[in-house]
Amino acid sequence: MDLQVVGTDIERVIATQEQIASKVAELAARVDKDYEGKDLLLVGVLKGAVMAMADLTRAMQRHIEMDWMAVSSYGSGTKSSGVVRILKDLDRDITGRNILIVEDIVDSGLTLSWLRANLVSRGAGSVEILTILRKPEAAKVEVDVKYVGFDIPKDFVVGYGLDFDEKYRNLSFIGVLAKHMYE
Ligand code: IMP
Ligand code: MG
Repeated sequence: MDLQVVGTDIERVIATQEQIASKVAELAARVDKDYEGKDLLLVGVLKGAVMAMADLTRAMQRHIEMDWMAVSSYGSGTKSSGVVRILKDLDRDITGRNILIVEDIVDSGLTLSWLRANLVSRGAGSVEILTILRKPEAAKVEVDVKYVGFDIPKDFVVGYGLDFDEKYRNLSFIGVLAKHMYE
């Protein structure tokens, strides 16, 4: 879904479809290089990372495996609750596997720091993180993120997998949600 359809719901565009595509291709090439000759399991965080996973893996030039987790840290609002709950767990054992977590956004960092610790505790061989967006000013905990698409301001953004109350995930671009939509 494109900008003209959502009109004034969006205050400003953060990354266009073209900018996202070229960034994802760049990240895919880096991942290919860093994991050359190594096993790689990509773990997508539902639902936000669906677009990123679909585009990233298709831009990669190697075999990978994919698995998915769903965790909840947000209600229907726009603020992190800090409480993480597993809604859907991995399908397979990850002992000794090289894992790359694929996320839409690192906001407070609470979800990812919890998730990384959780995967490490299950005996993963390595756990790294790839995120399309990061809000450095919103960090509440330090998370070492190996691959970042775009660093952005603290504003609430939607599109390319990111939602507001389950909507806007299918925007082809990423934009700041206008304040009149939730204030
Ligand atoms: P955390 O604050 O880093 O734990 O972020 C947890 C989750 O909140 C992310 O994976 C997103 O699903 C969601 N989230 C954080 N910031 C935004 C935003 O600006 N727009 C939409 N979802 C967000
Ligand atoms: Mg998410």
